[in-house]
Amino acid sequence: MMTDHENGSRQMRKAPSEQELKQLEEKLRETLEREASLRDLNQCMEEFLGASSHELRTPLTTIKASIQLALRRLRPLTGKTDYDPEEINAKITVAQDMLARAERQVDVLNRLVGDMIDISRIQSGKLPLYLQTTLCNIVTIVQETIREHSKAVPERSILLETPIDEEVLIVADPKRIRQVLMNYVDNALKYASSPVTVRLQHDNRIVRVAVEDKGPGIPLEEQERIWECFYQVPNVKVVNGSGTGLGLGLHINRTIITCHSGQVGVNSVPEQGATFWFTLPIAQHNVGE
Ligand code: ADP
Repeated sequence: MMTDHENGSRQMRKAPSEQELKQLEEKLRETLEREASLRDLNQCMEEFLGASSHELRTPLTTIKASIQLALRRLRPLTGKTDYDPEEINAKITVAQDMLARAERQVDVLNRLVGDMIDISRIQSGKLPLYLQTTLCNIVTIVQETIREHSKAVPERSILLETPIDEEVLIVADPKRIRQVLMNYVDNALKYASSPVTVRLQHDNRIVRVAVEDKGPGIPLEEQERIWECFYQVPNVKVVNGSGTGLGLGLHINRTIITCHSGQVGVNSVPEQGATFWFTLPIAQHNVGE
């Protein structure tokens, strides 16, 4: 038996009007869209976590193996006095090589974690707050960065073409400009097996630094997208180094250079190589000199 109250509310319920139906439809569509983008976001997050844990684990595995090998070489020396010097030397040399390898992998880890921190600062719009700008000579920055980097990869040839003994002043955070250059050079070394050329040119308004390789290049339709966060061109092979990367470097580069009122870009013909470049304004008091 229905109560009077239930009877009353049933009689009061009307069929929804056309406008109400439209509103409901609109709400449903919005909810479905929100759910779909949450699903996309979730998938992105899962992919990122998968890729980043893999990228972090690769150097960790090498560090652990190198330390274990170094220990294995050094352990027999403990408390022994009857080794001949040559044998001791040989063991110490191997241990040193292993530790140097571990140290290089610590640098890789450091860069990865640094990139992740940068991305979170970029997403929250806070990167500019961390820039420490000063008047500096970009010729010296480029020369020192490449000299140091060349020592770390002696098996690769990095050619440097910069004006000699010239001062080209910019207002910038030198550490960040080094970071941008290193990202370009690391990519060139990673994706191409050719020699890499770093070129610095300037007029009295802007300075342009370019990193050229003769690797696989980048298809025209991908040249815009490579600057997006996490984007990696499908099927591009890493020819040197173990890590595949996370697709963060170029996005970080673009943000850093934009924060310095400069520009980034790439010129590339597929199969013939790529030239990644950035420009920066020359400091005012240099103009007209
Ligand atoms: P990552 O190298 O970690 O993937 P980046 O943001 O530095 O991320 O580069 C994005 C993508 O651009 C790379 O995955 C690669 O596909 C492409 N790329 C970058 N530099 C080069 C290069 N020198 N030659 C060919 N492809 C490159």
